[in-house]
Amino acid sequence: MGKVIAIANQKGGVGKTTTSVNLSACLAQLGNRVLVVDTDPQGNLTSGVGVNKADMDQCVYNVLVEDLPAENVCVPTNIDRLDIIPATIQLAGAEIELVPTISREIRLKKSLDSLKENYDYIIIDCPPSLGLLTINALTSSDSVLIPVQCEFYALEGLSQLLNTIRLVQKHLNKQLMIEGVLLTMLDARTNLGIQVIEEVKKYFQDKVYKSVIPRNVRLGEAPSHGKPIIVYDPKSRGAEVYLELAKEVMESGERVR
Ligand code: ADP
Ligand code: MG
Repeated sequence: MGKVIAIANQKGGVGKTTTSVNLSACLAQLGNRVLVVDTDPQGNLTSGVGVNKADMDQCVYNVLVEDLPAENVCVPTNIDRLDIIPATIQLAGAEIELVPTISREIRLKKSLDSLKENYDYIIIDCPPSLGLLTINALTSSDSVLIPVQCEFYALEGLSQLLNTIRLVQKHLNKQLMIEGVLLTMLDARTNLGIQVIEEVKKYFQDKVYKSVIPRNVRLGEAPSHGKPIIVYDPKSRGAEVYLELAKEVMESGERVR
């Protein structure tokens, strides 16, 4: 049965989508069958793995709002063993359309459950909010991976996220765990980055991954080519570190089992 991991933080621009694309691709390269799910109406994850949103008639919207089986919207990517459930701009309406519907918080979970045995990992990229799309992602997941940008206000807003996680644990998904906290966009030339790392470690302790994602020009360029970093520039530092992260994620899973 696949492990489901939500990549969540309601702050925008902290590296959720970059981590979803690259962690998924690295897990696939390491031999895992991986499904990545885009739940952000912006669809950056979808284009980041080279899937053309304009070609998509259906997306995660139809799963959430119209109860379409998830396997009907699953498409392969150019990367071996990596499939995606894409998002298109149609998803922008879902947050509001879901409000009056029955079991609105567990719709994604219900449809992903039927796919779990086809994959080793299902990675869900969340939008930058704590609304119904993120709640659906958290309710569907075994664990949540929190990217934290190495900047001055790094910890700001995290208490809101942790509070939402606790509410989901209490009412919707008792099993939900914190998979890990990932430090992103570290600029090694500044002391600030090092200070932030210490501060985040004080707070989250051994939940913080050893792999720290550097600010890396190639990582920023890769999405515009529709490629994960291990395809776009496999020798870059960004590719190395995302591979290390994938190994950490696999090892922590083995420890729990
Ligand atoms: P989020 O999904 O949390 O909004 P993104 O992953 O889309 O954040 O990242 C925001 C922007 O920063 C994107 O343009 C992305 O390409 C860029 N970016 C993300 N991580 C890095 C990194 N480690 N180095 C350089 N640019 C990055
Ligand atoms: Mg994003």
